[in-house]
Amino acid sequence: MYLKGVGPARAAMLETKGLKTVEDLLTCAPFRYEDRSNVKTIRDLAPGEMATVLAEVRSSKVAGFRRRNLGLFQATFTDDSRGVLAGKWFHGAYLADILTPGQKVALYGKVEFDSYSGHLAMMHPEYEILSDEEDGSDNSLHTGRIVPIYEAAGKVATRALRTLTHRILEGLAPLRDDPLPPHIRDRMKLPDRWTAIQDLHFPPTGSDLRVLNAFRSPAQYRLIFEEFFWLECGLELKRAKARLQPGIWFQLTDRVRERIKEMLPFRPTGAQKRVLSEIATDMAASHPMYRLLQGDVGSGKTLVAAEAAVIAIENGYQVAVLAPTEILATQHYFYFKKLFQKLGYVTILVTGSVSARDKQQLKKLAAAGLAHVVVGTHALLEADVIFKRLGLAIVDEQHRFGVEQRQALLEKGIDKDTPPDVLVMTATPIPRTLALTVYGDLDVSVIDEMPPGRKPIVTKQVTEDKIEQVYSFLQQQVAQGRQAYVVYPVIEESEAQAMKAAQKMHGQLSRIVFPDLRVGLLHGKLKPAEKEAAMDRFQRGEIDILVSTTVIEVGVDVPNATVMVIEQAERFGLAQMHQLRGRVGRGADQSYCILVTGKLSELGRERIRTLVESCDGFYIAEMDMNLRGPGEFFGTRQSGLPALCIGSIIRDADVLEVARNEAAAFVAHPPSDDALRRAAVFIRDHWQRRYGLVQVG
Ligand code: ADP
Ligand code: MG
Repeated sequence: MYLKGVGPARAAMLETKGLKTVEDLLTCAPFRYEDRSNVKTIRDLAPGEMATVLAEVRSSKVAGFRRRNLGLFQATFTDDSRGVLAGKWFHGAYLADILTPGQKVALYGKVEFDSYSGHLAMMHPEYEILSDEEDGSDNSLHTGRIVPIYEAAGKVATRALRTLTHRILEGLAPLRDDPLPPHIRDRMKLPDRWTAIQDLHFPPTGSDLRVLNAFRSPAQYRLIFEEFFWLECGLELKRAKARLQPGIWFQLTDRVRERIKEMLPFRPTGAQKRVLSEIATDMAASHPMYRLLQGDVGSGKTLVAAEAAVIAIENGYQVAVLAPTEILATQHYFYFKKLFQKLGYVTILVTGSVSARDKQQLKKLAAAGLAHVVVGTHALLEADVIFKRLGLAIVDEQHRFGVEQRQALLEKGIDKDTPPDVLVMTATPIPRTLALTVYGDLDVSVIDEMPPGRKPIVTKQVTEDKIEQVYSFLQQQVAQGRQAYVVYPVIEESEAQAMKAAQKMHGQLSRIVFPDLRVGLLHGKLKPAEKEAAMDRFQRGEIDILVSTTVIEVGVDVPNATVMVIEQAERFGLAQMHQLRGRVGRGADQSYCILVTGKLSELGRERIRTLVESCDGFYIAEMDMNLRGPGEFFGTRQSGLPALCIGSIIRDADVLEVARNEAAAFVAHPPSDDALRRAAVFIRDHWQRRYGLVQVG
């Protein structure tokens, strides 16, 4: 369709924002609204009011450092009423090239009296360039009403998008089609699609600005709901399809139960029992298991994974355990080896740094089926690592594995038609509905209970200048027979730098601060044997204080360690610090986490406050997501997190919940087979492109 005002250049810019079709433009929601019903001439402005003026730049100047964009940008504006209005923008030097004298603009903001200049002024007003191209265009579209503000697409600014959208809506015959199932729409009293789209862009008069900016107008709610509904339907259909695929039927015999009991060093918690039964049910089913096991650090996920491994092994299958780092793989290896020794299972470790000859040997054990449990890093995924009868793959830390890697793992199964069951463990728990959405194809189990006898970890913030107090505290704890970690951040992905910091600190702590204590060092650049030796010594209590980089973030399990000191805590991410803190508090003694901070940004302060306040991984993950935004939190590439048009999985978590329930009910009990088929076709036609992951068969 040809659109007036969209030439090839603009079309290309729109495309960078994923706006390819008229439909895309119509569903591209304004991210904010402004009430510009109060349009005034400058002469009629009164201090204190929110107003819009249409004016021309008379003069402008930048004060301060232009280069670093720190300058104060000031401009004066005038209009037909001959009034003069000042506008000021801090950090506004970039505006010098935009608001040049003679430029016509619309300004929107709060009017103040600037006693310094004697003029009326607006501080940081919103501005919109009135381009020549649009001269004579209908200003009533842009002022005199509540107007939508869009995110610019390249050089296509909000005003152009508004004009474009308006033109489309004017030119288009009302869309009669409303794909949302009518019984749901009626029950939820949602407006029809066409009305919703119109009101989304140009809210009806009398709309409440606050409601609009909270994304809860009836039109917005309906479109958000709709977006989530189709997404969740797509995921449900995909899951339903997965349940029809053939997998391994593991038998849950009395013997299997006996063997699990034999292995267990503790009585499992209620939560552990519950998730094991969810896992066992999956494993005994005819379709492959694809399950996410969520639980806070130290909640005992690994123990549950070990139970699942026993089920697989007693059924004559092998188990692969995949970990993101060598340290974690090594930890898992020791943990599983210890548990499984009693049962006579053979556990081996395959990592990138095993010598070629040893690796050859290990690979033979795996290929011959002589190794029951093969623990490893990415090295396990290499094509020449072959299993005789792989039945279960346990993957730790979902975040760091991409889709291709998961695929590589599935291909290690006995044959193409018998993929292994997969259990993914993550210590960054997120709300269930969100997990089901973001990790689309996974079912979700949650361990929401800590092993008994755990005392909450006392967390304190200490500023750098009080580091002496931290040292004397460490001294005391060691005198009581405890052990401690001191961790340095990896700065900008440079393990080399962190290593230097850790090495330097190790020197200082071992020679000057604690000459009488045994201070160890652990960082990523050590040879595997050295790492193992350092961890071993710490585990055996032969090291009092372990200085380390974040390599210990996950996996280390030393119950006698009671203090975690995080240096330069402002440089760490929230989830990362929570993980680190989870290294202590594993025994019966009171444990401490000390966050040593330098200069804190506002966000940094918020992160520290969150940790000091709470030990709850769910709360912390939620805060982390809020502080960082979902894109960065999940890492857009790895997860199947779809690019949403209007819904936000954080802001609209409540709508997501409703939509998920409706979608699950709709797919499970569609009003008719035809309705379900229509929905499937609709999803395929309309959502496939954006949600790549939604495959409907
Ligand atoms: P996660 O993998 O969830 O971080 P782990 O499985 O490493 O947790 O368990 C943390 C610690 O708690 C380990 O030392 C583990 O042996 C211990 N543990 C696990 N389950 C229990 C339980 N039911 N009772 C007592 N201790 C447990
Ligand atoms: Mg199964």
